[in-house]
Amino acid sequence: MTASFSNLSLAPTLARAVAEMGYESMTPIQAEAIPVVLTGQDVMGAAQTGTGKTAAFSLPLLQRLLKHENASTSPARHPVRALVLLPTRELADQVAQQIKLYAKYTQLRSMVVFGGMDMKPQTAELKKGVEVLVATPGRLLDHIEAKTAVLNQVEYVVLDEADRMLDIGFLPDLQRILSYLPKQRTTLLFSATFSPEIKRLAGSYLQNPVTIEVARPNETASTVEQRFYAAQDDDKRRVIHKILTDRGLQQAFIFTNSKLGCARLARTLEREGYKTGALHGDKSQDERLKALEAFKKGEVNLLVCTDVAARGLDIKDVPAVFNFDVPFNAEDYVHRIGRTGRAGASGLAVTLVSPSDTRLVGDIEKLIKKKIDIESMALDGDRAPRSRFEGERGRSDGERGGRHDAERPRFDGERQRRDHDPRFALDAPRERRPGGFRPAPVSRDPFFDKPYEAPQADVPAVWESNRGTMPRSPVSANIKPKRKVAALFKTGE
Ligand code: AMP
Repeated sequence: MTASFSNLSLAPTLARAVAEMGYESMTPIQAEAIPVVLTGQDVMGAAQTGTGKTAAFSLPLLQRLLKHENASTSPARHPVRALVLLPTRELADQVAQQIKLYAKYTQLRSMVVFGGMDMKPQTAELKKGVEVLVATPGRLLDHIEAKTAVLNQVEYVVLDEADRMLDIGFLPDLQRILSYLPKQRTTLLFSATFSPEIKRLAGSYLQNPVTIEVARPNETASTVEQRFYAAQDDDKRRVIHKILTDRGLQQAFIFTNSKLGCARLARTLEREGYKTGALHGDKSQDERLKALEAFKKGEVNLLVCTDVAARGLDIKDVPAVFNFDVPFNAEDYVHRIGRTGRAGASGLAVTLVSPSDTRLVGDIEKLIKKKIDIESMALDGDRAPRSRFEGERGRSDGERGGRHDAERPRFDGERQRRDHDPRFALDAPRERRPGGFRPAPVSRDPFFDKPYEAPQADVPAVWESNRGTMPRSPVSANIKPKRKVAALFKTGE
């Protein structure tokens, strides 16, 4: 039986906004959490992203704040009543956008503050008064210190993606922020996972919380087809290309383990002709939002992300997620693949496993409680053409896999195991293959042999076209002109 929003007796202004969103029935977290939050109790909610948890906490919260609704222009009549804290700017922005939509027919004001943006416009808006403040912890503290955010009338606080906030190291900031809030309040904590640290946080700041768990936190959606392919770092892009082509996929997220790996992979894919965006912590806020927008509009086909930057991104209909690097933390696997197969749609999650990743795959297997078969994929022709990648190759092997800057050790033993693992036979050193030494192949793809040309706009997805006539795509913001470096050489040293 599906639960309908009409059973909730939401205020007409909220019900109208929900109706406009086109939601037909409540999601499980909404059906469970909304009635509880409407009673004003604390909640500890275990829910994956994409489950509709923003509406689950914001609709009842807005409903309870309606008693404060007023049309006065006096800022004093619009103190901060609800505070929603999130770990990343993108998440804060998304949640704030959703809240604005739900509150659009009310007189309640909402806004978002996050770092990386000028404080002045945020300060001006805060000074006018706002009932619902969505924020990342660091920037909120800046506003608290500047006395532009006054939190002594807060009645509700939501700690969303709490596990990720702790992962990022926000615990001291959270503790400080919570110390500014009135003791009498409702606290809602949502987290995908419940580590001992999260339980301690909940124990300190929540009062007799109602626990709501709609999907086991480590469960992966049954609508996601999960595949694991053995692939050496050098072959991973070709595996991705083959899967995109074979399945006629238009868009995908590609996850890497490090910011540097993310930037480099995005750049390399862009050079190979894909319309690519990158989302990682070193991108400015503006660049991140632009990359996200471009992906949403379909202008970008591949969005290369790190875990922190992509956590909880609300992008519907991502048909595929690739784990270019197996995540170090098995729980991140669940989060990553949660980007696809949302709301019952089918999705594909492909993890590219290099020989050194077997332990990490074992961790995932334990977490998701499913047996993982690592398949091998026959790739046409020889390995990825080299000429285009010399620049990348000049760096270390580990960097391309995103491990170098994440300081992951690489053991010789792993290399040896790989040489004897038949799944990696494709990539075994060529001189060891039957038939003796074969020289590295020469690229037969004209795309890779031609000098780089300025791209044309509005080209179709590259994997839709024949590789031989691969079109140029617009250069994304990932490609920065290489700096010319002058070197002085001393002799006699
Ligand atoms: P969230 O988990 O809050 O990030 O929500 C994920 C997406 O689901 C958002 O795009 C919401 O607009 C959408 N959504 C939320 N509630 C519902 C619902 N009851 N029916 C359909 N879509 C929903």
